[in-house]
Amino acid sequence: MSYDQDLGSELTGTTLWRDGWPVYDRGETVCVIGAGPSGLTAIKNLKEAGFGVDCYERETGVGGAWNWRHDRSPVYASTHLISSKPLTQFPDFPMPDDWPDYPHHARVLSYLERYADHFELRPHIWFGTEVVKVEPADNGRWDVTTRSTSKYGGAERIHRYAGVMVANGHNWSPKMPAYEGLEDYRGDVIHAGAYKDSTQLRARRVLVVGGGNTGCDIAVEAAQQAARCWHSTRRGYWYAPKYVLGRPTDQVNDQLLALRAPMRLRQWFAHRTMRLAVGDVTRFGLPKPDHKIYQSHPVVNSQLLYYVGHGGIAPVPEIARFHRTSVELTDGRHIEPDLVVLATGYLPRFDFLEPELLGLDAHSRVSSGPEGGAESRPVVVGRPKLYLHSFPRRHPTLAVAGLVQPDAGVFPLAHWQSVVFARYLRARQSAPQRAAEFGRRIEKEAGGSWHEGRTTDSTRHWFEVSHGLYLRELQRALDTLEGAR
Ligand SMILES: Cc1cc2nc3c(=O)[nH]c(=O)nc-3n(C[C@H](O)[C@H](O)[C@H](O)COP(=O)(O)OP(=O)(O)OC[C@H]3O[C@@H](n4cnc5c(N)ncnc54)[C@H](O)[C@@H]3O)c2cc1C
Repeated sequence: MSYDQDLGSELTGTTLWRDGWPVYDRGETVCVIGAGPSGLTAIKNLKEAGFGVDCYERETGVGGAWNWRHDRSPVYASTHLISSKPLTQFPDFPMPDDWPDYPHHARVLSYLERYADHFELRPHIWFGTEVVKVEPADNGRWDVTTRSTSKYGGAERIHRYAGVMVANGHNWSPKMPAYEGLEDYRGDVIHAGAYKDSTQLRARRVLVVGGGNTGCDIAVEAAQQAARCWHSTRRGYWYAPKYVLGRPTDQVNDQLLALRAPMRLRQWFAHRTMRLAVGDVTRFGLPKPDHKIYQSHPVVNSQLLYYVGHGGIAPVPEIARFHRTSVELTDGRHIEPDLVVLATGYLPRFDFLEPELLGLDAHSRVSSGPEGGAESRPVVVGRPKLYLHSFPRRHPTLAVAGLVQPDAGVFPLAHWQSVVFARYLRARQSAPQRAAEFGRRIEKEAGGSWHEGRTTDSTRHWFEVSHGLYLRELQRALDTLEGAR
């Protein structure tokens, strides 16, 4: 559906006015922002609960991060799932049996496209349309301002909705660390978001910064393609293999969860397994992990240690500062890469919402990218204070989907988040007492943690959840709203 097409017949209700601008009242329709995996499942579940749904997607296709055709997509040519197939797929739409345990990103996109087609979601999506503002209106309703992303621009339009589900993703706005001397450095520096395939590394001396899954993937590619590869990490990690006992690692953990094995027992088992399969990582020159396994989002990579062991990757500590032609490390060494890849993660951004609506706890103005243009403008970043990383206090008709970093796949959690949201919106009409009880739960528990381990305040850990614990809490929320349909 294109934005200008047949808008009139899409309107169910009256036109209101706000500060001299027309506001098209969409009645009980719910707005979804973004058509990535979380937005798609939100459209489906709201539709199934009987709501009209308008979804706005600024890109021209579905799939979000998994759609590599989109400029902001963080996937690179070799990206495969890190969470295995059964723990990633939506509960009501399995991936094909003949697909491997860890499908390639192109397959994940085709899965999402099939999902959109199967549940007839595309007619609800306004592609090439960006949400620029979401403001509270009366009775828990929301005024959503949108604008066409076409190069010819277009007028802003405001529609009023009964609820808004924000599914804008948190893996597209690069987190750029500040380094002394970086502006005078003569080598190339890119963020991992701009890394697309290994030809960018070929025959170059590459420094990869960051010990997360992306940093490890790129270091492994550099080991095979680059003239030299240094891998800088600031702390020790557990490098879990993709398979344990012949099964995908997350499935083994999930089996133990299903047997209700307590965290300590699972940690004991995992430490034993790691000792046997991986051994002491300090032997490879890597820092010792400073946390227990499962206390932090796992790094799943079977190849990193292999390439360290074969001399393809040289582990190095943090960067102290940049000089014109070299990089100084915290151990005093100087290295001379000609390409630095910053795999330093991404920041959540909600530019269209006033920070207090999500209860952002700390606001700092940061510049988000070296690439210039709109993405490098200052933005407000903070940690939203939400119940289940989804529901803001005082604004229960607004919810966020997909703002989680689980020890398994994101899709099933986003699915159940939107089921809860749909049930809540329904309960407001048909079971106000249950809805009020859910509202009180949000008030009380917003800002909690649904993660079994201790996490640091690093943005990398803000949204970590243990999927078993998290799903149980979602079930509790559903139980509160049960009977509300
Ligand atoms: C390298 C890499 C590997 C990963 N591996 C896994 C994995 O193995 N398993 C897993 O479960 N997850 C993985 N993830 C996480 C991945 O982000 C999620 O799987 C998933 O994409 C989250 O979906 P989402 O819909 O919440 O966000 P996204 O996929 O980011 O989609 C958000 C959508 O919202 C749109 N949007 C944003 N702002 C606006 C606006 N203002 N107006 C209109 N539209 C807007 C965007 O264009 C986008 O289409 C990985 C991520 C990366 C970077």
